[in-house]
Amino acid sequence: MSLKERIIVAYARTKLSSRKVSENVENPLHDWVELKVRNTFKHDEGFRKALGRATLGEIDRRTFEEYQLYRFRRQMAYVMENSPYYQKAYAEAGVRPEDIRTMDDLDKVPLTDPNALAEEPFLFLCLSQSKIARTFSTSGTSGKPKRLFYTNDDLLNIVDSIAAALRSAGLKSDETLHIMFPAVVAWDPSLMLESACKVAGLRSVVCSDVNVEEQMRVMREQQARMIIGLTSFIYRVTVLARDRFDLRALGLKAIICSSEPLSEAVRHELEDAWGCKCLSQYGLTEMGLATTIECFVQQGLHINEADFMVEVVDPATGKRLPPGEEGELVWTALSFQGSPLLRYRSCDISHYILPPCECGHAIIGKIGKPKGRLNDATKIGLGEHIFPALFDEAIMKVHGALSYQLIIDKPSYRDHLHFIVEYNGDLEKGKEEVLKAITGLEEIRSGLENDLIDPIEVEVREVPHDFTPKRRPIIDRRKRFDA
Ligand SMILES: [Zn+2]
Repeated sequence: MSLKERIIVAYARTKLSSRKVSENVENPLHDWVELKVRNTFKHDEGFRKALGRATLGEIDRRTFEEYQLYRFRRQMAYVMENSPYYQKAYAEAGVRPEDIRTMDDLDKVPLTDPNALAEEPFLFLCLSQSKIARTFSTSGTSGKPKRLFYTNDDLLNIVDSIAAALRSAGLKSDETLHIMFPAVVAWDPSLMLESACKVAGLRSVVCSDVNVEEQMRVMREQQARMIIGLTSFIYRVTVLARDRFDLRALGLKAIICSSEPLSEAVRHELEDAWGCKCLSQYGLTEMGLATTIECFVQQGLHINEADFMVEVVDPATGKRLPPGEEGELVWTALSFQGSPLLRYRSCDISHYILPPCECGHAIIGKIGKPKGRLNDATKIGLGEHIFPALFDEAIMKVHGALSYQLIIDKPSYRDHLHFIVEYNGDLEKGKEEVLKAITGLEEIRSGLENDLIDPIEVEVREVPHDFTPKRRPIIDRRKRFDA
């Protein structure tokens, strides 16, 4: 680092709340969130007025919800003043910030459609472009790419959120984080994580090599204590390395699986191979990625609710659903200034879990592990719903199975399901076991029994030399009359 860079980093570091939380507290994420609420109370008269209290006292869930609602109103006023999109949308709906007093009032605020953002990103920009430090385009796996704008403070906020999440997974400042995303992905989370660690004062090393020996060499040399990376990439290295290396001997503390869903089958394989807990991390690119992380209880992902509000709505009606009920996740960025999104539809399906959690979290809530995208689900046979998570569980349970893709067609009156599976080991045996796992699913069996599905076709392929990022898990080629 040059002197100038060092000064910038040192200055940025002083602004991070995550640095102010001691390394030895039981639950760093909890302390971090609490710190943020206390800071707002101390410096923001509006919040003190909204609470109607002179002292904050202990922060319980109710106080925390008041904090979120206050931040929501403030953010709503901000976008109404600065974003042409929200100005128009909220004027048309006739809703004002002061109308939002309870969580139920949020139903009055229109949802933000991802297509609107893709079509006209500049309508969401709240500041002059000179104040924007970085523009970020989403990979556009589903539809048009979207553009987001971040100020320096927004970026620091993301760094803070990443650092708090890594700490809550147990990473200490003298330990090394091994960052493992394939270089082929269009966006580069490695770079973002590496700079976040640098600013936050955490040690990290990036290794994007597809070569398993190289991955192992770097991990040993740098004494990696934690891995974070793309789920399918970590899984690939694990499957190819576990018979040749003693992975447990590395003494890892945890593995954080990011950017793709983590099925229980894959989790089990990873934990068994490395001898440590494997945690799931989920983040929406439009929210700056670092928004949730699983705790060691492994029953849901804690949300950084100091900066993000999560709601679950009925995808058909857009109405809020009570905690525990499954629906579409809707996100609000409570802190961003560049192009903050409010009540933004994610198309991801999950449910909200109220605190407390067994890990000790009493204030912030969780979401269940996201089940995949809304538009990835489809129906077969008698109308049985199938979605990627279903096959993630079934197929990945087969030892040696690495990834799959399902192609659905309808050459006659029956649905035809063609699975292409990457497999490490004896291909004939692999084929047999994968077929058994698929036909064991209730959703498939009923279709077969009622003669609405062709016999399942399984094609097993060797693991290719290069890593290819996950393709769409389900491709539906059926012609539909209603399409
Ligand atoms: Zn927890």
